[in-house]
Amino acid sequence: MATVTERIAPPQVRQTSCFIGGKWIPAVSGKTFETIHPATEEVICEVAEGDKEDVDLAVEAAREAFDTGPWSKIDARDRGHFLNRLADLIEEESEELAALETLDNGKPIGDARAADIPLVIDCLRYYAGWADKIHGKTIPIRGDYFCYTRREPVGVVGQIIPWNFPALMAAWKWGPALAAGCTIVMKPAEQTPLSCLRMARLAQKAGIPDGVINVVPGYGPTAGAAIVKHPGVDKVAFTGELATAKIIQRDAAETMKRLTFELGGKSPNIVFADADLEAAVEGAHFGLYFNQGQCCCAGSRVFVEEPIYDEFIHRLAAKNSQRRLGDPFDPATEQGPQIDQAQFDKILKYVEYGKEDGAECLTGGKRFGDQGFFVEPTLFAGVTDDMRIAQDEIFGPVMSTLKFSGMDEIVSRANNTNFGLAAAVWSRDVGKAHHLASKVRAGTVWVNCYDVFDAAAPFGGFKQSGLGRELGEAGLEAYTENKTVTMAIG
Ligand code: ADP
Repeated sequence: MATVTERIAPPQVRQTSCFIGGKWIPAVSGKTFETIHPATEEVICEVAEGDKEDVDLAVEAAREAFDTGPWSKIDARDRGHFLNRLADLIEEESEELAALETLDNGKPIGDARAADIPLVIDCLRYYAGWADKIHGKTIPIRGDYFCYTRREPVGVVGQIIPWNFPALMAAWKWGPALAAGCTIVMKPAEQTPLSCLRMARLAQKAGIPDGVINVVPGYGPTAGAAIVKHPGVDKVAFTGELATAKIIQRDAAETMKRLTFELGGKSPNIVFADADLEAAVEGAHFGLYFNQGQCCCAGSRVFVEEPIYDEFIHRLAAKNSQRRLGDPFDPATEQGPQIDQAQFDKILKYVEYGKEDGAECLTGGKRFGDQGFFVEPTLFAGVTDDMRIAQDEIFGPVMSTLKFSGMDEIVSRANNTNFGLAAAVWSRDVGKAHHLASKVRAGTVWVNCYDVFDAAAPFGGFKQSGLGRELGEAGLEAYTENKTVTMAIG
């Protein structure tokens, strides 16, 4: 990507309709909804508001593509070619896509360029490589039989994604689904439909047959619920809030859909006194404030061992005071706005809870500027386990720091949450780090690093942070059914 140091111009929006069966069409109802730029609160454009009728059409197209269309007959390796071609087209347009992400989500253009879009491309290429490596087994059962398994695509998959990494969440879902041979009905988040629609256009340009990818923008309780309840959908993959996942689980029970969920977290980031202090401060800062704190795996409970606690929070506060907030189209900006008014209000409410519960607010705690949903990087000291800011997912730039003494207490305190998405440990003692990594009930544990993602490494939650895994081989398997074939040969 080109290195641009001046404020870049917002991109042109090109796709705002539903994408169904290879056609760009308005919602059946004719309704539209606004999507806004969170840094200015200005309307970007109107987008088709899909609902049940649009989902019905999309499922019909996806069903046909899966059951009888060209996709059902295509060789596995050619599915990989399509994924690679899509990745290439996204790479060619990466600057425009990054800008679209910044426009719709408000994230700093530097992050969109350095993280979101390169990870999208990497994920699609990673799964392109899997397409022709989905193997069954031969199984030595008793008797004169030839028994083998086939891994077959699960079918039509409904994919419902959030607004925090709009393009990347689409890639995490399209990559394994297409590699496995599934067809897709995707609903992007109502806050951020634009990059997903752009990617659908590029998928079409890449030659992916009509009906294989369908995108229905719209709201959760209408378009989203229609996908979950539709009998023609075989699986739902969802990323979002725990409360929404519980509704989806209930709605999906009627048709016994396969489900994968990637939900929230209250991830412990544990710093021992023997850690490389500067690296740990950096890791704690990045682990929480990256993406405006809007990461499901954000290290929002920072446990610091007692001897270094005061020094640690002092350094964290100093770092916060240097963080550059502002126009997300300025490449020097490190922190943009929160996604919308509702999230902004929720975050500031939690700041009040923190103060009410007796924590000390060392930095931030208020709005930045007078336009857009900006919240200053907020740091709480003296947080205890029972405070609301230590229990609930805030999904914003609010860090709770907690003091701990030694290994015995930290394991149970780290696990004192219904979530279990991620954790991190900072220590120079390898044994201590591995011990903690084995004891923490979380799907991902980072040691002396944070937010290291790779398409090859599975990601997902223990406990109420999720169901199943995304990425890696595990993520692919979640898009397949295991079929056993037994043939008499005697
Ligand atoms: P977030 O806080 O990230 O917006 P949500 O769980 O509310 O988390 O939203 C994630 C995705 O789930 C969005 O695309 C949203 O529209 C969708 N969604 C919300 N409610 C439902 C529902 N009842 N059924 C299906 N999808 C839903």
